[in-house]
Formats: sequence, C-alpha cells, structure tokens
Amino acid sequence: MQATEPKKQTLTTRGYATSSPTSQLEPFTFERRQPGPHDVLIEIQYCGICHSDIHQARDEWGGSIYPMVPGHEIVGRVTQIGSEVTGFKEGDLAGVGCFVDSCRVCANCKEGSEQYCENHLVVTYNGTEKDEKTPTYGGYSSQIVVDENYTLKVPAGLPLANVAPLLCAGITTYSPRRRFKVGAGQRVGVVGLGGLGHMAVKLASSMGAEVTVFSTSATKEPDAIALGAQKFVVTKNVEDLLPVAGKFDFIIDTVSAVHDLNLYLNLLNREGVMVLVGVSEKPAEVAAFSLISNGRTLAGSMIGGIRETQEMLDYCAANNITSDVEVIPIQKVAEAYERTIKGDVRYRFVIDMKSLAAAADGN
Ligand code: NAP
Ligand code: ZN
Ligand code: ZN
Repeated sequence: MQATEPKKQTLTTRGYATSSPTSQLEPFTFERRQPGPHDVLIEIQYCGICHSDIHQARDEWGGSIYPMVPGHEIVGRVTQIGSEVTGFKEGDLAGVGCFVDSCRVCANCKEGSEQYCENHLVVTYNGTEKDEKTPTYGGYSSQIVVDENYTLKVPAGLPLANVAPLLCAGITTYSPRRRFKVGAGQRVGVVGLGGLGHMAVKLASSMGAEVTVFSTSATKEPDAIALGAQKFVVTKNVEDLLPVAGKFDFIIDTVSAVHDLNLYLNLLNREGVMVLVGVSEKPAEVAAFSLISNGRTLAGSMIGGIRETQEMLDYCAANNITSDVEVIPIQKVAEAYERTIKGDVRYRFVIDMKSLAAAADGN
C-alpha cells in the first residue's frame, strides 16, 4: 500500500538568468522548492540592481555559478505561509536581502551577525542551499521561497520600489555607521555617489553627521547636496583633495572599481576610520604611511545581520528614508547594467517584476 502524499504544488517561476560571464540576461524558467513549515512564499514586486549583481553575472570575483538569476534587493507580498510560520501572514509585505539562510549555530549566527556565518551562508543567488548542492536563484524572478527567520518585515507606508534597495544598499551603509558609532557632529566622507553612496549620504546626514561626497562625476553635485551632503569634492584632480587632508572622522568607500585608497586614507584625522564596502575585482595597494600617520584604521564591512537589517528598515520608515530609484521593465536590464557601470544612474535601477508577464507573452 502506498501512503498518500499531500499534492505537490508546482512552483514554476519566471525569471531572467545569465548563462556565462559574457552572456546577456535572458528569460529563464525554473522551479522553486516547496515551502516547508517555516517558509513563506513571496510574490516579488520589485528587485533592485546592485553593482554586485553585475560583478557576479560577469564573474568578476571568480567562482560564479551559472545559470545565474541575480537579485538580492527584493520586496513583495507573502502569498502563502508554512504551517509553523508565526511572523507573517498572507498579504503581508516582505523583504529579502543578500542571504536566505545560514548555519544558525555558530557564534556569529547566534549573535545576529549571520552575514559572517562561520559555516555556510546561503546567499540569495550565486550560492547553494543548505544541502551545499542545489543552486540558489535570486530576485530577478516572479516568486521566492524563504524561511521566515530570514525574511524582513517591510514597514507599510513607504513606496515599495524605493524600499527594495534598502535590502542591500541600505543595510550595507547603515551597518558600519552603527559599528563605528558615527553620528552627530562628526565629519563623514562618502566616496562614490552610486547606489550605496547615495544611501550612505542619506543615512549619515539623517544622523546629524556633516557629510562630504567625493565623486568622479561633477554633475552629481546638486544631487549630493539635495541628498543631505554639505560639501562635494570632484576627485579628478588629486590637488583638490589636499585642502581636506586630515579632516575626517569616518569615510565610507563605496567605489566599485580599482582606485587609489591612499588618497582617501590621507583625509582621515587622528584615529579616523575608513571602511571599505565597495569590492573592486583587483586588490588595492595601501602604503603603510597612509595608516601609521594619524594612527588610522582601514576596515571592511559586508551587508548586515537580519536583526540589524530589520532595525535599519524601521529606522528608514521612522525617518522617511528610501532610495532614489529609476524603475525599469526587466527587458531593459542589459541597458541598466551598462548605465550602472558608467555611473549613469540616479541612484538605483529597480526592476518592476510585472514586466516579467510581458516577457512570458513574448512582448
Ligand atoms: P554603483 O551604483 O555602480 O556605484 C559605484 C560608484 O562608484 C559610482 O556611482 C561612481 O560614483 C563610483 N565609481 C565607479 N567607477 C569608479 C572608478 N573607476 N573610480 C572612481 N569611482 C568610481 O555601485 P553600488 O551598487 O553602489 O556598489 C558599489 C560597490 O559596493 C560594488 O563594488 C558592490 O559590489 C559593492 N557592494 C558591497 C557590499 C558589501 O556588503 N560590502 C554590498 C553591496 C555592494 P561617482 O560617479 O560619484 O564617482
Ligand atoms: Zn548588493
Ligand atoms: Zn553560522
């Protein structure tokens, strides 16, 4: 006799994937896993385009897994919950960031720094599930199944497309500010005014810091001021940095390409801290004198833990902070990648997932 199994639903999911470092993203259909007792099924409404999507789609960091469905700035609505789920109900807004699970037992996981899991961080895409075999597929897709403990609550009342980038760009620039206790009265430098950079400006200025933006794009000055910066320095000529040498308490470097870190380290005051969040494909050279002078610290930071990400979302809701976005249909993703690489985005592309239906119709 055969035991009767519950009827399995089909979780056929539409998305866009790339199949090699040099391919374009194209329509791709795949199956999501059956939601388990602790899972929520989320219908994705918007997904931001992070520069990390581009780095990984093009294998600029090495080890990319194909086919790859990028996307880790995900917002949508819960359409189904597992039997043991307590934190979400059908119809709730939900967010998913850069990871969807972790080992849960290592010291870092237990302390809420799951992003630094000592065992296996299940990244939202370009990684593997807990079985360390099944590939994960990200947010350029119609739906996703995530454990409720790794799903964020999206506060109501914020424009949803503008919330999506908070799940990566927001938390990545919020977390170091918290760790290094950056706040009122401090002088903060933000290097690179892109997706992460513009969130860094909004967050640091909302906390009372005096913000200076360092940018290669002179045309971004009015935006930088409107975002909350007090000063703007174009970095094309190194001499233009000299007047502010030794003046900064804290600098966050969001640049996505190789550049000279020493120029910015020299802007730090005594015991000032520069934190790298941008990830260029090649290592940087740091002169010892850039660090030993003024006893400076060069640090790094990767996204943030689940609890901290929720805190950031709640902070943004309370302070009415979201990302400045350009919403695009998924059919324009290749163009959006090219424009992001050129720094031609004000300040985050966000894909409207309704456009996937048009892709399925062949339109
Ligand atoms: P983005 O929107 O493309 O912004 C990067 C900015 O860097 C550009 O807008 C540009 O600003 C500046 N830039 C680009 N090329 C440059 C060059 N050759 N020299 C000097 N400046 C240059 O990218 P994003 O999404 O904000 O991501 C930024 C970086 O952070 C990426 O490497 C990404 O992978 C990484 N990231 C890290 C984490 C983490 O957890 N640490 C999380 C997310 C992303 P200007 O026009 O103002 O010069
Ligand atoms: Zn990202
Ligand atoms: Zn862990």
